[in-house]
Amino acid sequence: METVIEKQLCTGCHACFNACPVRAIRMEEDEEGFLYPLIDPQLCVDCGKCQAVCPVWHRPECNEKEDTYACAAVERELRLSGSSGAVFTLLAEETLREGGLVCGAAYNGPGKVRHILIDDVSKLSQIRGTKYVQSEIGDVYQHIKAALGKGRRVLFSGTGCQVAGLKSYLGEDPPELTTVDLICHGVPSPAVWRDYLLELGEDSPVAEVGFRARGTTGKKDSFRYRLQNGKELLREQKEDLYVKGFLQNLYLRSSCFSCAFKGTKRCSDLTIGDFWSAKEFHPELEDGLGVSAVLIHSEKGASALRKIQPRLKWEQASPAEAACWNECLVRSVDQTDKRAEFYSRWRKENLMQVLQDLTAAEPGQAQEKSSIAKRALRKLKKLFS
Ligand SMILES: Cc1cc2nc3c(=O)[nH]c(=O)nc-3n(C[C@H](O)[C@H](O)[C@H](O)COP(=O)(O)OP(=O)(O)OC[C@H]3O[C@@H](n4cnc5c(N)ncnc54)[C@H](O)[C@@H]3O)c2cc1C
Repeated sequence: METVIEKQLCTGCHACFNACPVRAIRMEEDEEGFLYPLIDPQLCVDCGKCQAVCPVWHRPECNEKEDTYACAAVERELRLSGSSGAVFTLLAEETLREGGLVCGAAYNGPGKVRHILIDDVSKLSQIRGTKYVQSEIGDVYQHIKAALGKGRRVLFSGTGCQVAGLKSYLGEDPPELTTVDLICHGVPSPAVWRDYLLELGEDSPVAEVGFRARGTTGKKDSFRYRLQNGKELLREQKEDLYVKGFLQNLYLRSSCFSCAFKGTKRCSDLTIGDFWSAKEFHPELEDGLGVSAVLIHSEKGASALRKIQPRLKWEQASPAEAACWNECLVRSVDQTDKRAEFYSRWRKENLMQVLQDLTAAEPGQAQEKSSIAKRALRKLKKLFS
């Protein structure tokens, strides 16, 4: 079997899989639990399309516009349902109201997350909310192309590499398509996620997961697991072993450590994420229910934001403010030696024990928040100077 690109660089965006005219490419899970394209030489006709549409080989051009806002939906109910300021929900509702389609990540069976296309606001809850695991694209780019071909409007939301994959696959920037990418820490392994759910649901399978549920403090900083027997587990992020391992980069995809799709200039129309420093820079918007950072990259992005502006509280901001506490906007996270240790122990030992060992704070590791803040600000000043 042959590959499309060096494994370390492959983001799993599925552009090659969607573009292959003879279905010679299949996506196969590797030993770390991520999907990679494999070319069947018996079927391959050497047309070169797979490499031509690979956004790592040929990076789509970045848009020129640069505007940043701190935003939050006015409607409190909406903000309770979204991960940060519910900007995605407003963009999606507007697209559906105009008769368009929306594509985003949805749960798809036990421990599976996959991109789907919806055409009705009743299905919006399926794609709303963040899912901290790599979402499978499948053949959804082909369905988007078909819809655009019929003149339908489409709003696509995903990670930076998925937006780049879609744009490379399409080979153009149709006026009917609006793309939204996320500020992204990196994507965790779907197989590790599946294993974690199996262990959590030892007594009764996990039926539903909320990654940014409201915790006991009222903040959206908890994980909610609902088991089939009706029992509910609510864990603060700092207590949940899966999210701890995710944030300590134990099982991120290799390509995430040198992500080519970060920065304040992107090929998407808008970038959304959490405005972690809203308390410092935009205190009027901060009420504990989440504030979104929105970066506009194109006129299409600006127009999409203008349409939802009446339903938003917003303030002009700067990219440096948005990146404060949130460096993932502009740079990839660092590799850690613990990742290799995780993978050498995973599947041989009890997952919970491995996570417990590797995520435990080392002596002297706990730091004062103020000293971390000062270090983060110093770094950011360097990045934006
Ligand atoms: C793996 C991952 C890492 C992230 N890291 C950061 C970070 O470091 N800093 C930060 O500010 N924000 C990060 N985010 C984004 C953040 O969690 C929110 O999704 C974002 O702020 C949008 O919030 P919202 O309320 O507007 O929309 P939401 O309703 O939360 O989400 C909207 C859309 O996000 C997309 N989405 C959700 N899960 C996935 C997924 N697994 N793969 C691809 N697309 C997905 C979907 O298409 C969904 O429709 C990350 C998200 C993911 C999935």
